[in-house]
Amino acid sequence: KELTVDLGARSYPIYIGEGVLGQIGELFAKHAIGKGSPLLIVTDSHVAEHHLGAVEARLKEAGYATVSYTAAWGEKSKSLAVLEDIVGAALQAGLDRKSTVIALGGGVVGDLAGFVAASYMRGIRFVQIPTTILAHDSSVGGKVAVNHPLAKNIIGAFHQPEMVLYDTATLKTLPDREVRAGLSEMIKHGLIWDAGFTAWLEQNAQKLISLDQEALQYGLYEGCKVKAAVVSKDEKENDLRAILNLGHTIGHALEAVAGYGELLHGEAISIGMVGAAKLAMRLGYSGQIYTATKRILQTFGLPVRLPAHLETEAIMSAMMHDKKFMEGRMTFIIPTEIGKVEINKNVSAAWVREVVEELKQEA
Ligand code: NAD
Ligand code: ZN
Repeated sequence: KELTVDLGARSYPIYIGEGVLGQIGELFAKHAIGKGSPLLIVTDSHVAEHHLGAVEARLKEAGYATVSYTAAWGEKSKSLAVLEDIVGAALQAGLDRKSTVIALGGGVVGDLAGFVAASYMRGIRFVQIPTTILAHDSSVGGKVAVNHPLAKNIIGAFHQPEMVLYDTATLKTLPDREVRAGLSEMIKHGLIWDAGFTAWLEQNAQKLISLDQEALQYGLYEGCKVKAAVVSKDEKENDLRAILNLGHTIGHALEAVAGYGELLHGEAISIGMVGAAKLAMRLGYSGQIYTATKRILQTFGLPVRLPAHLETEAIMSAMMHDKKFMEGRMTFIIPTEIGKVEINKNVSAAWVREVVEELKQEA
């Protein structure tokens, strides 16, 4: 399957399929990625173990000179220190303005390698080879960044890839918990934009969890399509991009309070999406949104209950840190029916506190 992310002159294709990496030589040639300058492959230690050798071999076969950089796995590698180390490796390998950076991995590697590409010699080309389900989200939209100790994703740029090669066979080595957490973001794309896709997701939950290749390809295609539609419309309609934050206001606060590792990002936003549906009820929207949201997430084995040991006040103050808070009013993305949301800038903080408490009782 092929999908174009429509951004005018910055448009780029996403190729999705089992075994698309087998066509890497032809696709690179098609996109005029030259053989005169070395390619830099950036990956992490988990992904390297399973997939780096095959990608290196295919590129060598196709006549490319490559150099590989393997970062430690995990969010900590999205740092200026690692960026500096990669730039050192790039200089030593003789990367020049015509070189291309290849991001082989999940969202961490995509953000890190993308920022290397955005900043090295004021910007060189890059290609994304996503290996997680969550990366269907992060590989569309062109946001690339590293973290600062005081804030996530605070040092970054917009830098669109030349193309995205999504080989669904690489997902077979992804741990089950990461699979489900990535699917949480796919469910979010259904809930904000497309009732039909949401219904399909619920019906195909077991296939997706067990990595049925055809179901995955369809789900990733539709998920990328929603993200691409929102991102390309945002250029005209300011603010629209905010709807991608469904479940994220509570979710980010939970990640911050729980500390790294207890909750995966997709798990935190799963709980956050249930919270947003509860707020919708308080705002007068149908309780069926809440029932359906919860049922879908539970079908995927995602958490809907907020861990009771996380203190409500700590969660509230983490949310206020998120700076969407003014005089007892907060901004939330609220589902108004399945497949539709509104940006509500007037949600009572008192309701949010009640919802956080209720989420600890969710069964
Ligand atoms: P990740 O890249 O850390 O991958 C999750 C884990 O799975 C890691 O341990 C990784 O080593 C491992 N892994 C990846 N692919 C594997 C495979 N095929 N087989 C075995 N193990 C594999 O995390 P993620 O969930 O993909 O992405 C999260 C990151 O994405 C965060 O840093 C977040 O800020 C970023 N993000 C960016 C955007 C954006 O628009 N740029 C959007 C959403 C998220
Ligand atoms: Zn997210």
